[in-house]
Amino acid sequence: MTPGPTLVIRCPLCSQLGKYRTVASGNTFGAVFYTDGKRVAPMLPDTPRVSRCASCRGAFWLKTAEEIGQFTEQREQPANIDTDWLKAGYLEEPDEGEYLEALDRLISSTPAEERSIRLLAWWRGNDRHRGPLPAPAVDNPEVLNRRHDNMRALLPLLATAESADLIMRAEVLRQLGEFELATKVLTRHFPAAFDTAISRLLYLCARRDSTLQKL
Ligand SMILES: [Zn+2]
Repeated sequence: MTPGPTLVIRCPLCSQLGKYRTVASGNTFGAVFYTDGKRVAPMLPDTPRVSRCASCRGAFWLKTAEEIGQFTEQREQPANIDTDWLKAGYLEEPDEGEYLEALDRLISSTPAEERSIRLLAWWRGNDRHRGPLPAPAVDNPEVLNRRHDNMRALLPLLATAESADLIMRAEVLRQLGEFELATKVLTRHFPAAFDTAISRLLYLCARRDSTLQKL
């Protein structure tokens, strides 16, 4: 993986500077695919499209932030780099609770992105099952309610003609424990490229298993 420049932006919520590292080139070696459609590629990390400001902790669409400049990070930074850039906090992807809390504001600021924002929040919640350790058994009930509301609101947004959307729709239904409805979606005709994912999801539905799995 070759690092790219570090980009400096202005937070659209509090006007403080923030920054994030980019990747100039990488590869998908060692990438893992999950039943929810997310790909995790250690050699090609994604830039979070929704970011959390290090100053105000607010979540915002990265594309709505004004870009201030960029620089190359080095062990000994040349003196001509603005010290405010060096001091700016790194952006991070919000955690699931932060996504869900900011959901209405993010959707109303960019309605055309509702499908993407709900999908990102759902994936972020599923991240708790992607690590090497089992996820904590007890979830905050408020997060749990918001998570389920978000998953239910995703369903109509994934009822498109796209095969990938329909398979994610089946996966949302499976994770909600709606195994018969998920199976019904999966038994339609899909291109052969989706055979592996579909047989895996049908197997999990038959076992009434609602947990996230690797593909
Ligand atoms: Zn901010």
